[in-house]
Amino acid sequence: MNNHKNNLIQYRGGGYDGCFWEWNYFFVDNKGAFHDVYSSGRAGADTIEKAQEVLDTANDHVYKYDVTTEAAWTEINQESAKPNIQLLIAWFNDYDTMQESGIEEFALCTICDEKIRCASDIVLEDYRGCGGIAMTADTLICSECYTGWLCPVCSEFAGEGEIKEVPEHLQSYTQLCEDACKYCIEQAETEYEQTEHQDKLWSALTTGIPDLFSREMSWFWHTT
Ligand SMILES: [Zn+2]
Ligand SMILES: [Zn+2]
Repeated sequence: MNNHKNNLIQYRGGGYDGCFWEWNYFFVDNKGAFHDVYSSGRAGADTIEKAQEVLDTANDHVYKYDVTTEAAWTEINQESAKPNIQLLIAWFNDYDTMQESGIEEFALCTICDEKIRCASDIVLEDYRGCGGIAMTADTLICSECYTGWLCPVCSEFAGEGEIKEVPEHLQSYTQLCEDACKYCIEQAETEYEQTEHQDKLWSALTTGIPDLFSREMSWFWHTT
């Protein structure tokens, strides 16, 4: 292990049913000691012997990162799935607390590109399936960007630039919020239209204004 000091090793682990694999990681610290960062399934290297095997059979599917360098973390951010980045930051956060290793791990926010040092400041969004029961996330953001793009009406994360001004006549349908996500604005639009139609219908039936057969009331004949 001594040849691999300060290296994070990424390899193909998993293998629950013989055909499915996922990225696993182990770390060789500055004294050459082995740490299992994340191992899963049959192919996971959870012992130093298995880790040695991974290194000995090193092929195209084994990646090494010198985690004491900034370049390594930049590469990890470019190459890894977002949930794996979060997992690695969390592991090195804990490791630093115990070891004062001086390793400066960081994740990069998809929106503002700022470095995120603490795993607890990472928010994953845009979850999607990636085969079988496995899930991954396409967006990794810092907590500021997350709260900055939360819809004030439904409290859901809307995405960068996806909070829009609510037209004034709709604000009574968005709890008087002046900004909202597009779904909340659409919803307000629908509610506004329904209320307006009801008022007009009532007026048409009781006062004759507008005329029930006028163009203004054509929606009534089309929807009923
Ligand atoms: Zn950010
Ligand atoms: Zn909303």
